Amino acid sequence: MTHHDVGFRIGIGYDVHQLVPGRPLVLGGVAVPSPVGLAGHSDADVLAHALIDALLGAAAAGDIGRLFPDTDPDYKDADSIMLLKDVVKRLARDGWAVGNVDATVAAERPKLTPYVPAMRERLAAALAVPPAAVSVKATTSEGLGFVGEGRGIAVHAVALLYRRNGGA
Ligand code: MG
Repeated sequence: MTHHDVGFRIGIGYDVHQLVPGRPLVLGGVAVPSPVGLAGHSDADVLAHALIDALLGAAAAGDIGRLFPDTDPDYKDADSIMLLKDVVKRLARDGWAVGNVDATVAAERPKLTPYVPAMRERLAAALAVPPAAVSVKATTSEGLGFVGEGRGIAVHAVALLYRRNGGA
């Protein structure tokens, strides 16, 4: 027996990026109008990053930092949706398909709710699932901590993978 395989696997992902002036705010592949954006080596799409770690976690396949090192100039200003697609492709090669994902974005501002449908569409396309299998929820931190003070955005995500065609 190579590993315990029940045909379904869950994973958790978490990421934080700092909000700074002069950067775009990209969340779930959607540019959100904002006077501040997320700092990072790539486009700093904290939602895409948390989802990538949830997917990799479900497959016990490492983490985003191992796959896409932020010391690698290839990933400078990288479109994180492309990284997400790449991860989905890697998982598919190992026989895994995405069942559904769920994420909570903790941000004090701007108001994200109007952009959630577009985020779900973009993420669903990258994950090769219908938008109904992609949940994005927005919450604030009630003024508390780094999120509440508007210094950063944090995302928690979970993902379910299932074995396609019996798999490897
Ligand atoms: Mg990140």
